[in-house]
Amino acid sequence: MSTLLQDNESFVLRAIKETAFEQRAIPELKPHEVLVTVKKTGICGSDVHYLLHGRIGDFIVKKPMVLGHESAGVIAQVGSAVKHLKVGQRVAMEPGATCRVCDACKAGQYELCPDIEFAATPPYDGTLGRYYCLPADLAYPLPENLSLEDGAMMEPLSVAVHSLVSIGKIRTNQTVVIFGAGPVGLLCLAVAKAFGAKRIIAVDIIQSRLDFAKNYAATDVYLPIKPNAGEANIDYSRRNAEEMKRVLGLADRGAAGVDIVLDASGAEVSIQTGIFLVKEGGTFVQVGMGKAEVLIPITLLLAKQVNFRGSFRYGAGDYPLAIELAAQGKVDLKPLVTHRFKFDEAVTAFEVTRSGKSEDGKGVIKAIISGPDVGLDEN
Ligand SMILES: [Zn+2]
Ligand SMILES: [Zn+2]
Repeated sequence: MSTLLQDNESFVLRAIKETAFEQRAIPELKPHEVLVTVKKTGICGSDVHYLLHGRIGDFIVKKPMVLGHESAGVIAQVGSAVKHLKVGQRVAMEPGATCRVCDACKAGQYELCPDIEFAATPPYDGTLGRYYCLPADLAYPLPENLSLEDGAMMEPLSVAVHSLVSIGKIRTNQTVVIFGAGPVGLLCLAVAKAFGAKRIIAVDIIQSRLDFAKNYAATDVYLPIKPNAGEANIDYSRRNAEEMKRVLGLADRGAAGVDIVLDASGAEVSIQTGIFLVKEGGTFVQVGMGKAEVLIPITLLLAKQVNFRGSFRYGAGDYPLAIELAAQGKVDLKPLVTHRFKFDEAVTAFEVTRSGKSEDGKGVIKAIISGPDVGLDEN
């Protein structure tokens, strides 16, 4: 056992729009767990959503909760039954501990485990503290050529891998359209490129995001047309899809059709446009979270025999594949980290992520908070 600091300073959401730095007890290490000194944590839209609204759907913050779930760190202690890890190793931390005995876990779909204890999803504390304890098999050693920031980025990259590879079943030479060029959308573009997609089309309503997407991994970008005054969303979406097909030369079937539409925006018009756009027999993947209910053209979905799939977090094999894609240089994570903050600047980091840009006007893709007493350049 190495000696631990007794200080476990943590960034806690106490109530809606109310955060504080608190001393938390250092978690008790069980035999199959490791205790990690958290070094880098990315801020996610869901963290900001809990901060502003105190809930996401049925997940309601009822007692103070440590925020953060996109983290990497260095192993501080290993449990007595852990054989394959040692103190001092740099690891990416997968933030959902599952029960391992339910039907979903046993069927290899542990993301559907009803008893998952997911970091910063109430009532479970997140990773924005000095220490975090997790099952040893969820701590993935980072290859030499990946930084701790890369390690933190494995969380959103795993979301992208899960949606496009495990759920969307992408194959080489396909045409893929991604709605939403935020962090997950951009990572989906990168994964599509890594898998040898033929056309990778990014859609967003903000031109600067499209410019970034084009430089990053998209082969084409599309800025949606404007809705007419009083036009119903579904009518607008039909028109928008037709315009998209015209401008980009996309067809309803065959080699010029869209094999996979992935919505990483959660916007109703994106989902509708995507269903109008996807080719006959194509796949639609929903990964973006927005309104709980939307109107979709269900008859068309039926007639085109669209393979309509939901994608939730990540599951078996997604973290390892994400790490491999980054380590082999097939996905470049560096351009996505736009802002870095020290631990005591966590409030500013959340504010910047919420507003989408820092005071100097620079747009935020991913803001990373260093752990307590961790330097911005410690990587
Ligand atoms: Zn996240
Ligand atoms: Zn389970």
